[in-house]
Amino acid sequence: MLNKKSVDDLNVSGKRVLVRCDFNVPLIDGAITDVNRLTAALPTINKLISEGAKVILCSHLGKPKGEPKPALSLAPVAKKLTELLKKEVVFAPDDNVVGEHAKKAVAEMKNSDVVLLENTRYRVEETKNGEAFSQELASLCDVFVNDAFGTAHRAHCSNVGVTQYVEESAVGYLMQKEIDFLGNAVNKPVRPFVAILGGAKVSDKINVINNLLDKVDTLIIGGGMAYTFLKAQGYEIGKSLLEEDKLDYALEMVEKAKEKGVNFLLPVDHIVAKEFKNDTPFKAVDVDGMDADWSGFDIGEKTRVIYADAIKDAKTVVWNGPMGVFEFSNFANGTIAVAKALAEADATTIIGGGDSAAAVNQLGFGDKMTHISTGGGASLEFLEGKELPGVVAANDKK
Ligand code: AMP
Repeated sequence: MLNKKSVDDLNVSGKRVLVRCDFNVPLIDGAITDVNRLTAALPTINKLISEGAKVILCSHLGKPKGEPKPALSLAPVAKKLTELLKKEVVFAPDDNVVGEHAKKAVAEMKNSDVVLLENTRYRVEETKNGEAFSQELASLCDVFVNDAFGTAHRAHCSNVGVTQYVEESAVGYLMQKEIDFLGNAVNKPVRPFVAILGGAKVSDKINVINNLLDKVDTLIIGGGMAYTFLKAQGYEIGKSLLEEDKLDYALEMVEKAKEKGVNFLLPVDHIVAKEFKNDTPFKAVDVDGMDADWSGFDIGEKTRVIYADAIKDAKTVVWNGPMGVFEFSNFANGTIAVAKALAEADATTIIGGGDSAAAVNQLGFGDKMTHISTGGGASLEFLEGKELPGVVAANDKK
């Protein structure tokens, strides 16, 4: 269990509480196309409202790179939150985030009122964890709550800097849930513990592989990153994704798996094509049957059976990264097979954020998983065994 103060440990009645949320929602022409991140933030916000706090919300949205960009304003979020909370969320449209509008809105707040500040990344200091902006944010509040798991791996003003200048800081329910699920899975797994890693690049997941090899019973590798491992073992991989400079590392990891007694699974067959698009001729080949001018875009049928079999008996499964180019239907079957195996397993199933979360949701298996993380980068860093600055910064439980 996380040893950080949570919203349950705070006495917030009548206090100004600044909550860092992850409202980094997808927008098309100013319309929010997926409200998952907003609904995920509601339990903390509702708890604070019910306790009579003055609730001041803040978040980043996209990458305005330190200057006001109207297309990345949080105004549409205030509108949508008003609907979801069934309560007015007053928006403070300051280009400098903590400006006249924000100060006035906060000064006029009554208990249980809600104010939303403008995009924190309108300020250039935000991502540099600058002192002045951290102090300005803190000047609006008495207590700080961090509920933004998606940015917990970064030390910014609105999740780390601000904590130095407030009476008390805690983590929100969403943050707590993320850390509890990921933390228990990795540090106290019910065994067998199977991890599945895929996606494009080995280099993104080097430390994850290294850390997980100390913990898992089985490590399954799929997606583009599998080809560097196969090449390192002497297989022809044609024009499949390859990171030449990671070949030695790949061999080291295969060795480490042997030493640790980890069942290390690589694809035994592939779906290959000559062009990176859906409507192109494709075929299945065994791992030793790849032609020089073809590329592997998905795991093959035999591999799917082996992987599903390894997942079937697992009690804990962590999955990060698709098994192939799941965005193209002809190369989505490996990812679907793994998602299905997870959905059917009698196990705690945890999906890292980003592409794997998108794949699981897009393929219709979202509600079959125990936990789908809201943070891609943050969940990867967690799986690397790193401490997340946004979590470390909160006060410890007494
Ligand atoms: P990542 O962000 O590293 O998790 O990678 C996700 C991306 O990897 C997705 O967009 C997939 O289309 C892509 N991907 C997965 N397998 C392959 C492959 N065999 N060849 C090329 N791209 C792949």
